[in-house]
Amino acid sequence: SLTIGIVGLPNVGKSTLFNALTKNDVLAANYPFATIEPNVGVVGVPDPRLAKLAEVFGSQKIIPATVSFVDIAGIVRGASEGQGLGNKFLANIRESDAICQVIRVFTDPDVVHVEGKVSPADDIETINTELILADMQTLEKAIPRLEKESRKEKDRKVLHDAAVAAQEVLNSGKTLFAAGVDAEPLRELTLLTTKPFLYVFNVDADELANTEVLDELRALVAPAEAIFLDAQTESELIELPDDEAAELLASIGQDEPGLDQLASVGFRTLGLQTYLTAGPKESRAWTIPVGATAPEAAGVIHTDFQRGFIKAEIVGFDQLMEAGSMAEAKSKGWVRIEGKDYVMADGDVVEFRFNV
Ligand code: GDP
Repeated sequence: SLTIGIVGLPNVGKSTLFNALTKNDVLAANYPFATIEPNVGVVGVPDPRLAKLAEVFGSQKIIPATVSFVDIAGIVRGASEGQGLGNKFLANIRESDAICQVIRVFTDPDVVHVEGKVSPADDIETINTELILADMQTLEKAIPRLEKESRKEKDRKVLHDAAVAAQEVLNSGKTLFAAGVDAEPLRELTLLTTKPFLYVFNVDADELANTEVLDELRALVAPAEAIFLDAQTESELIELPDDEAAELLASIGQDEPGLDQLASVGFRTLGLQTYLTAGPKESRAWTIPVGATAPEAAGVIHTDFQRGFIKAEIVGFDQLMEAGSMAEAKSKGWVRIEGKDYVMADGDVVEFRFNV
């Protein structure tokens, strides 16, 4: 499954955030047989539709989609030169499908900043520079080889030309993601900065409602998505019963925990979406890439469903809620029959028909 690597300078709140994420423990309840590595956190993607579905269908259980975060230690200035943890760090990022940068904005004088001062813009530049330098090294090695190959094999020229164009972008100081470079033709080179980025700003709680500050930070990283949270408060929130957590959230002017936002934004950043199934046993969100067809979606439940796919009976979530029950939705003609070329939409409520 796809993973998001969490990176950031030392002392910015990565561990605090990661521990809070892993305590959100969706896995223990719903995936009891999953083995998890210590630096991987599997987090439920909050989806209010599931509770409503469970009500309509009398489901005993709700199973949300999940998104996996990997805690990647060791970015420091010079990481791209392979010093210290550098090599392991780069290898770990290479295996991630998206990069989540944690950036310190909180000011606590008791927490040392490795660069001596709290400056989000400088920290973002430090991290991105290391990632850009690592990609430049990869390209410098690859391009002469690709040039030779493209003289013999025409189709290697596509990769060669994409590599040269990427090198120019990196020379200008931009990540390939920020420059909107298509990752697909470059896939073979496993570059770091073609991956989608998202940013978590670790902000003092009393700044979370300061739109002026947040807008400035957001502008630093656009078009990447930005999430604002106070990691320390998040780690307190998960220890509290629901009503007290809601009170604490309200006291800092928030209506949703930052961790929930992170899970939702992370999921989207990976290019994923969900479709829904429901019955008396469970209401469940299934993960598919945006653009998946009905048989591909069926294959996520079971490969036999994809192989034997006949058709899908589909109703949009909103229409189903308006009808109030599946039977009523059917009698209104809102349940569509879709075939193998149907491209799934987010929030489709589905029943598959298949041969076994
Ligand atoms: P990491 O090195 O990036 O993993 O950072 P840690 O999560 O270990 O945090 C470093 C220190 O900063 C610890 O003492 C945390 O308690 C503290 N810290 C983390 N997040 C916050 C925050 O949001 N506000 C404040 N004031 N301190 C924080």
